[in-house]
Amino acid sequence: MGHSIRLGKVFNIPIYLHYSWFIIFALLTFSLSLSYFPADYPLWSRVAAGVAASLLLFASVIAHELAHSLVAIRNGTPVKSITLFIFGGVAQITREATRPMAELVMAIAGPLCSLTLAGVFAGITLLFSSGSGILVADLTRLLAYINTMLVLFNLIPGFPLDGGRILRALLWRGTGSYRRATHIASWSGRGIAYILIFGGIALVFGCTLSRATLVVSAFGSAIYLGAFDGFWLALIGWFLHYAATTSYRQMEWHENLRGITARDVMTYDQPTVPPNLSLKELVQNYILPTGRSYFLVAEEGRLKGIITLYAIKQAPKSHWDLVRVQEIMTPLSELVAVQPDDDALSILEQMAEHHTNHAPVVKEGIVLGMIARDNLIRFIQLRSELKAGS
Ligand SMILES: [Zn+2]
Repeated sequence: MGHSIRLGKVFNIPIYLHYSWFIIFALLTFSLSLSYFPADYPLWSRVAAGVAASLLLFASVIAHELAHSLVAIRNGTPVKSITLFIFGGVAQITREATRPMAELVMAIAGPLCSLTLAGVFAGITLLFSSGSGILVADLTRLLAYINTMLVLFNLIPGFPLDGGRILRALLWRGTGSYRRATHIASWSGRGIAYILIFGGIALVFGCTLSRATLVVSAFGSAIYLGAFDGFWLALIGWFLHYAATTSYRQMEWHENLRGITARDVMTYDQPTVPPNLSLKELVQNYILPTGRSYFLVAEEGRLKGIITLYAIKQAPKSHWDLVRVQEIMTPLSELVAVQPDDDALSILEQMAEHHTNHAPVVKEGIVLGMIARDNLIRFIQLRSELKAGS
């Protein structure tokens, strides 16, 4: 995980904090100490209560993700890490559940934990609601509210939110098809995302033009929605759309690359060029006759690097007979070189991480072939289409 700091381990699961979390921490502490806690308290105690509320919110989100993770571990699925970021937390569970009921229990565990926390905080609020503990009551009331919101938000029936996972588990049990269930749950996620985005934008414009607030009555109390809430709704919608799209794609990658290794997807007829070749010779004798846009550079079969049309075009044409391939090639140390038995999914992930489109397949330094990202994606699409037709 980039842009995160490691906090430590809980139940042997590493906990990371994404930098975006500090923004929400600062905003929350600031706005709480200024506006939420009553002004008749000294500023220092309001700031202290603001910090405490932010830290307890943080603990609540960790507890939610831990609940998912502990069920996953009980099901025999290892959990790589838990990362907290601006919208909440993500538990990196290494495998998807293999049975619908296991998925259902795992998805429900998080909201159930948040609901329990909301109940505990509401109970403490009742205990301290009079006398000297009123600031504590204000603090725990807020946390009861936030945990309730966490339950409601996560139960939105759009994949990959918990509600979407519950929906998928039920559809999976009903239809018997994991694929179709994921497909429907992802579409539901994207649909809800669009409603949030357009509803949010409408709210921003409506409230700005009419200077009004929308009153929604829910659970016997009125909720006032203004332009600012519209902005938040649209932002959450955008985030949900992004999450639904990427997690569906990832599911597709996982599904279609299961058991596939580099050997299965590599091209074998991989011509190589010597490192001391001039660019002029390379273009005239290799690129123009074949139409290939890249060549592996090797000496006596040993891989040295890769030369691409893009790199050649960076060198001035008048120098093409002077410049050698080895001077402008991407060296081996900067390539994602893989072994024939490496699994295709991890290769695709490595390519994405290194922003590269080619991975040479090497055994003991000798070039065996090449994997192009395009080929891998086409392979996934093909398998996916064949499955959809069956
Ligand atoms: Zn959850």
